[in-house]
Amino acid sequence: MADQRPLASVSLDLDNLWSYMKTHGDAGWESRPTYLPVFLPPVLDALDRLGLRITFFVVGVDAARAENAAALRSVTERGHEVGNHSFEHEPWLHRYPREQLEREIADAEEAIVGATGQRPIGFRGPGFSWSADLFEILLDRGYLYDASTLPTFLGPLARAYYFWTAKLSPEDRAERAALFGSVRDGLRPIKAYRWRMANRRTLLEIPVTTFPGIRTPFHLSYLLYLSRISERLMLGYLRAAAAACRLTGTQPSFLLHPLDLLGGDQAPALAFFPGMDLTGERKRELFHRVLTVLGEYFTLVNMSTHARSLDTRSNLAVRKPEGAPSAGNGPKAM
Ligand SMILES: [Zn+2]
Repeated sequence: MADQRPLASVSLDLDNLWSYMKTHGDAGWESRPTYLPVFLPPVLDALDRLGLRITFFVVGVDAARAENAAALRSVTERGHEVGNHSFEHEPWLHRYPREQLEREIADAEEAIVGATGQRPIGFRGPGFSWSADLFEILLDRGYLYDASTLPTFLGPLARAYYFWTAKLSPEDRAERAALFGSVRDGLRPIKAYRWRMANRRTLLEIPVTTFPGIRTPFHLSYLLYLSRISERLMLGYLRAAAAACRLTGTQPSFLLHPLDLLGGDQAPALAFFPGMDLTGERKRELFHRVLTVLGEYFTLVNMSTHARSLDTRSNLAVRKPEGAPSAGNGPKAM
């Protein structure tokens, strides 16, 4: 019998210990402390148990450092795809001058190829940052897809929470003011579409999927948050979101973060993050349950497999890349 389940892609943004510390304003991030060597082995085992091959969006600076080389190499050796998650992981990269942005993408790509042996064909901006310049650069470099948008209204709330918890100077606050999107991001499409660029070129966009209609997130961090109230609530919400995607013909792109799978026992420095009182084992157990449920509704694949399938469609919507996080208008007021 042919598999009737539509495709869904699964990806993990490989944000490292130092980038969480940097975003939070903690001292010591400059030495680039890493948890990749302890984080990746149990995660790759958990994916094997599910029979899943996913996409890891890798940060260039991590790929360039020797202490991460073996762990990153194991990602591609075990059959996963790697994507480009920028070099420095600065969520304000949409405000870089064009030349700096070009270097940022190229340097990350080179480091990722060096560490993993695989050339990325997909990009996700740190903190869901993007710009028209970024898309032009990705097209020039032969990328197949971008995955930097998150159509939800909860972005401004996430920003408020972040500012509430972070230790930042006024300059830092100005630099980070456009983080996590605006209300306008909540109005962008949930289904895949094409960005219309100059010279009739287009770039495939695969948004991080939110609940069709109500646009609340259903990535794993959000589901784990619900599991704190009750695991039944979490699974009920996930099933409702998956069913709504099936009903509306939305093929989800499902997002994972390291803190969804990393226990407080593995990264004591991140104790201030919500959910870090859970052990890594408990998180991987919930992860297994969530991915098993998602697999009942969809055939789970990596991002490039999903992108190639979407790219054959002639009926995808086309949009102009307007209203990027910066749009040249400087920091927004809180
Ligand atoms: Zn990231």
